[in-house]
Amino acid sequence: MAKHTVTLIPGDGIGPEITTAMRRIVDATGVEIEWEVVDAGEGVVEQFGTPLPDHVIEAVRRNKVAIKGPITTPVGTGFRSVNVALRKALDLYVNLRPAFSIEGTGARYKDVDIVIVRENTEDLYAGIEFEEGSADVAELIDWVAAKGAGTIRPDSGISLKPISVTGSARIVRWAFEYALANGRSKVTAVHKANILKYSDGLFLRVAREIAAEYQGRVEFEDRIVDATCMGLVLRPEDFDVMVLPNLYGDIVSDLAAGLVGGLGIAPGANIGADCAVFEPVHGSAPKYTGRDMANPTAEVLTAALMLQHLGERDAGDRVLAAVKAVLGEGATVTYDIKRTNTGSTDGAVGTQAYADAIIARL
Ligand code: NAP
Repeated sequence: MAKHTVTLIPGDGIGPEITTAMRRIVDATGVEIEWEVVDAGEGVVEQFGTPLPDHVIEAVRRNKVAIKGPITTPVGTGFRSVNVALRKALDLYVNLRPAFSIEGTGARYKDVDIVIVRENTEDLYAGIEFEEGSADVAELIDWVAAKGAGTIRPDSGISLKPISVTGSARIVRWAFEYALANGRSKVTAVHKANILKYSDGLFLRVAREIAAEYQGRVEFEDRIVDATCMGLVLRPEDFDVMVLPNLYGDIVSDLAAGLVGGLGIAPGANIGADCAVFEPVHGSAPKYTGRDMANPTAEVLTAALMLQHLGERDAGDRVLAAVKAVLGEGATVTYDIKRTNTGSTDGAVGTQAYADAIIARL
């Protein structure tokens, strides 16, 4: 029996190609993984009536670890995003987004090594919204006025920003535990508590309380989100592990990805108390479907994170080192990396040839 069983959701668009490349590389490390392949997305709607059938969620629950390719969110079909639905169904409250420099990616910065821990379940992403012109909005506006809490223009739309003690405590604790387990020295909590006293203020208060438990083991600081963005651009080396509420986490993690070369190389994971779903940050890039062109680096670095999570740290490190070697050399790379480095796609190789080059370096 294989040592690990992992649910593999290939996704659509470029998903099947980049997950094939990823799987070949992971298998070549020698780590024994049995891949349980299940499909989700628009392609299964006809058969199961939903893009996220129950058996997919069950497979992730059973195996506890899944890795996926991107899945297209069809516009105007009424189905919500499979990715969001999966996160909700499994209460994957951590969005882990490392951003680190790799030579050969054309990144503007050289020595970035940041881990972003984004809260994944609440804040403005809770999905509690009231449409402009609706009776609910009128009622809400009257209620706010009656409380003496403020005046809202009648032609407003309203989105709620709930931030809880429970949600804040578990994400901040996760960030500190991650720092300890991975030899990281500092956690920075990011907020706008000077303005948003009851939501971000709560997040900051809870972060400080949890940080006190780790005093002497992991350093703690807090920063306001706008100053954080400037700081990241000016001196990214000041940051180590960052923990953020959902919206700031979304924005700041893309900023951090931009510092190190963009979404094509940005790995990610959604992690809960019981299960973890690993996925790259980028989407399904539909125009490259089936063309053996897409860059699988983000998917492969995502697999390196997964190997770490499975306790296969050595294999994860080897994958990372092999990716760094191939990108550093710059000869056997996909069109996007060639274009960034040389201004032309001449000499680029396909998805699988790039994977072969990584396998040769393992
Ligand atoms: P996208 O798929 O990330 O692609 C945008 C552009 O980024 C591509 O045209 C390509 O640019 C570049 N790119 C992205 N991944 C690449 C790769 N692996 N290799 C090379 N180039 C890559 O973004 P999108 O077009 O906004 O989204 C497409 C679909 O994906 C949407 O339905 C969206 O909802 C979905 N999506 C899914 C996930 C997920 O499953 N987790 C995440 C995000 C988006 P160039 O043509 O300039 O080279």
